[in-house]
Amino acid sequence: DKLKESKVYMRALFDYNPLDDKATPCQEAGLPFKPGDILQVVSQDDGTWWQAKKVGDSNLRAGLIPSKQFQERPNPSLPKTGLRRSFRLSRKDRQGSSGEANASEPGEPEFLTYEEVTRYQQRPNERPRLVVLIGSLGARINELKQKVIAENPHRYAVAVPHTTRPKKSHEKEGVEYHFVTKQAFDADAQNNKFIEYGEYKENQYGTSIEAIRSVQAKNKMCLVDVQPEALHTLRTGEFKPYVVFVKPRIPESRRRRSAATSPEEELQEMRQSAQQIEQQYGHLVDRVLIKEDSASACAELRGILERLEREAFWVPISWIR
Ligand code: 5GP
Repeated sequence: DKLKESKVYMRALFDYNPLDDKATPCQEAGLPFKPGDILQVVSQDDGTWWQAKKVGDSNLRAGLIPSKQFQERPNPSLPKTGLRRSFRLSRKDRQGSSGEANASEPGEPEFLTYEEVTRYQQRPNERPRLVVLIGSLGARINELKQKVIAENPHRYAVAVPHTTRPKKSHEKEGVEYHFVTKQAFDADAQNNKFIEYGEYKENQYGTSIEAIRSVQAKNKMCLVDVQPEALHTLRTGEFKPYVVFVKPRIPESRRRRSAATSPEEELQEMRQSAQQIEQQYGHLVDRVLIKEDSASACAELRGILERLEREAFWVPISWIR
């Protein structure tokens, strides 16, 4: 009596361990998962407990997971907050330095449960997906981005940033930067034209949404390195961002030889930075790239970009409809 295979897939946006969940009817039957895991939901017959398998898991038996409705309900039996709800992104977290356009209403919490996803493969006539690099302290993602693009400038490009600093004689408008006045820059910032911006030596710098569009219009894959807050603006069906989290390999302890070159404090800061991004944005990351050294990280990123053009990847179903 084989039933039709379920076509419902969900990306888990929270961390679930059935052993910590007093509400489950059977802890042994529970399916543990981590944020970002893809779950095939084989049954939603029960309103409280769904049956699901983890995609890529060799275990063929389905396990119990809390349904979306159940997970969004307050539940005093859970540890810590006493709520089932995952209030991971508070209003404060959602307001990036760029003051992005679609931050949620003031005071409105976002419940992180599941996001329905589907396999998506870019067709040759479609615009290339946006590649978003986020990195924790020490990852040097701009350098990584520049190297990969320099190797293959016909296929990959950066979004040309805006700046208020004067143009240098060897620079060309629209190549290194769009050179603009302070007034024009501020107006664009006010109107949410930038995915991110910042100040450096009293000049303003920022990357606009239009700059990404103009790369994609040339049928090139656009690579951006941004603060992770920008993901809230960029995660749309238009850009279909593929998010790579670049994380430097951090030595375990000072006994290691390499640790001698960096003070322990610095390593601790690097660990904290990586942990913070994982906690706040881990569920939005498609791929973690552990950076050993510049050359191997470059090779790995190149491999990821090539697969992105050839293979199918999970994206929110809302991007396709
Ligand atoms: P330069 O003026 O030498 O071309 O750039 C100086 C610095 O400006 C860079 O090292 C970088 O820190 C910053 N910068 C350049 N482009 C951008 C950008 O798009 N956004 C932000 N936030 N900073 C930028």
